[in-house]
Amino acid sequence: MRFDIITIFPEMFAGVFSGGIIKKALEREMVRIAVHDLRDFTEDRHRQVDDRPFGGLEGMVLKPEPIFRAVEAVREDETSRVYLLSPQGRRLDSALAKELASERQVILICGRYEGVDERVVEHLVDGEISIGDYVLTGGEPAAVVVVDAVSRFVPGVVGKEGSVRNDSFAEGILDFPQYTRPREFRGLEVPQVLFSGDHKKIERWRRKKALEKTVRQRPDLVEHKTLALEDRRLLEEIQNERKDE
Ligand code: SAH
Repeated sequence: MRFDIITIFPEMFAGVFSGGIIKKALEREMVRIAVHDLRDFTEDRHRQVDDRPFGGLEGMVLKPEPIFRAVEAVREDETSRVYLLSPQGRRLDSALAKELASERQVILICGRYEGVDERVVEHLVDGEISIGDYVLTGGEPAAVVVVDAVSRFVPGVVGKEGSVRNDSFAEGILDFPQYTRPREFRGLEVPQVLFSGDHKKIERWRRKKALEKTVRQRPDLVEHKTLALEDRRLLEEIQNERKDE
């Protein structure tokens, strides 16, 4: 899988992929990331990438020609997917990240200033991707988030299969709480059940805790979900325990 990032600030990407799981994925060539300077695709002496918006108002807008040229230069073939990072796009979630992980090439265009010329949106890209309902100063941090979230779904990138499987959202609910040594810290103890050695019991406890946290913090995730019988039982238990409190 290969990512191509088109930006006017390529230097911003110097450090972000040089640690952890993404670094390993790059070393093992499971994922490739190429960063392209939009100015390299200008044809004028000043290497101009932006201009004033038609119709007045303040600010600058990224010009269409360098962006079209950049995409045409880096795209491998017609299966390549091209996305503009934009607060107006489809909100990135686990499902979208998984979808993108099955592509061979994903090209990400980072906007700046007031945004990019709308002809890029209408005639060049396959879609717009947003990382949340807020406005960033540029698409670069969003591109980093997309690359990271998508790479985790590329087979082999995250070591043990299980570590992706149990993550938050993987099964439509949040992850269960994790504990590590020490067993007691400032009088705070790790739940007894985790030392029981009874894997069935531990699994049930984890599922229950995950459901409990989801209902409390992200009720939207389970509201319209048809839960398995065992999950409904666990939820009932949780509700009864709450009444007892
Ligand atoms: N005027 C635009 C925002 C421009 S912000 C609007 O209101 O829609 C400048 C650039 O930052 C955008 O072109 C986009 O590439 C990036 N950006 C800002 N917020 C973002 C978000 N939530 N998700 C992804 N990219 C974002």
